[in-house]
Amino acid sequence: MERNLIGSEYRLGILGGGQLGRMFIQEAINYNIHVHIMENDENAPSAASANSFTKGDINNYDEVMAFGKTMDTLTVEIENVNIQALYDLEKSGVKVFPQPRVLEIIKDKGVQKEFYKKNGIPTSNFDLISSNPSKSELMEKLPFVQKLRTGGYDGKGVEVMRNESDLENAFSAPSISEELVPFTKELSVIVSRNERGETAVYPVVECEFNEVNLVEFLFSPANITKETEEKATKLAIEVINKLQMVGILAVELFLCEDGELLVNEVAPRPHNSGHHTIECNITSQFEQHMRSVLNMPLGSTETTQAGVMLNLLGSEGHEGQAIYKGLYELMALKGVHIHLYGKEKTKPNRKMGHITIACSTMDKAIETAKSIKNRIRVVA
Ligand code: ADP
Repeated sequence: MERNLIGSEYRLGILGGGQLGRMFIQEAINYNIHVHIMENDENAPSAASANSFTKGDINNYDEVMAFGKTMDTLTVEIENVNIQALYDLEKSGVKVFPQPRVLEIIKDKGVQKEFYKKNGIPTSNFDLISSNPSKSELMEKLPFVQKLRTGGYDGKGVEVMRNESDLENAFSAPSISEELVPFTKELSVIVSRNERGETAVYPVVECEFNEVNLVEFLFSPANITKETEEKATKLAIEVINKLQMVGILAVELFLCEDGELLVNEVAPRPHNSGHHTIECNITSQFEQHMRSVLNMPLGSTETTQAGVMLNLLGSEGHEGQAIYKGLYELMALKGVHIHLYGKEKTKPNRKMGHITIACSTMDKAIETAKSIKNRIRVVA
């Protein structure tokens, strides 16, 4: 018999208490789904809004076990968690989504790339490289992109090597080298899948990154041909089906000049490239994540408005108690939606919030986005 998911009897746990968990809770509350968080930082963004908060290290086997045992379903908002504990919880009957098997593939960029290769999913050519590659070994690969196999995020752990002098920045830790892809656009597709194997895909979005590899602007829908849209959609479904994953998956793609699409990497959780879905799509990515891990019917992914999303990053040279300069001015503008993550302290480039500009046309959304970009600042 189907368990009643609503109310305090059913316990949904999340490992990690950042902004993704906070936005998840905002949606779960509408359904009276009870969400319990485990995280080390008591002041983390989702700590205050969860039904319960457990202080604990998501990389510690015993602590994840102790927390997970009290849950019916357990999910994550970050890949870097203790996977052995998740396997053992799964064995003991807790529903763990995304499955530990999937997290293990995705967590290590080397294993992830091998998975694409084995399953015929288009991706750039790559090699696994040891912790201490010799200079001559690296010289032969120029130009290439070196990526740490584990622990990297937001471009930390990625180095583009164009010439010999760049090799000074080479990592001495297990990594991969990838062919440098001369892409024309970076696209992202979010897809979800429930236990019944039903899938739902969001329209493709386009990302522009800044110099520190954080999303500068996200455009939804992407300015691409219908053919590329269809190809990207099919590819995202193929990836989640081949992973046999339950949950939500962001598939980052490179679009090449000849129209070819290559999978760069995937993230098995709500993603920065899906924040606009809160205002611009019928079902937000956070609600969809909830629906998928609880085996509920998946919601419509249809776009209702064009959108541009900007990350609200801590300003350079400011560290300390966060102050939002220009907030009221932006709030007065039509279509501007502000999300603050509740982080008390700012530091340069810390993700403090995001802004979505939702409009009837993309031109209008872009015009507003460009005009407001420097009008809000997070200072200390
Ligand atoms: P992270 O997981 O830290 O976000 P990514 O693998 O997404 O790292 O790489 C960060 C950025 O580096 C990408 O958004 C892209 O701009 C660039 N990049 C990554 N791989 C390649 C590649 N093979 N060729 C060209 N650029 C790349």
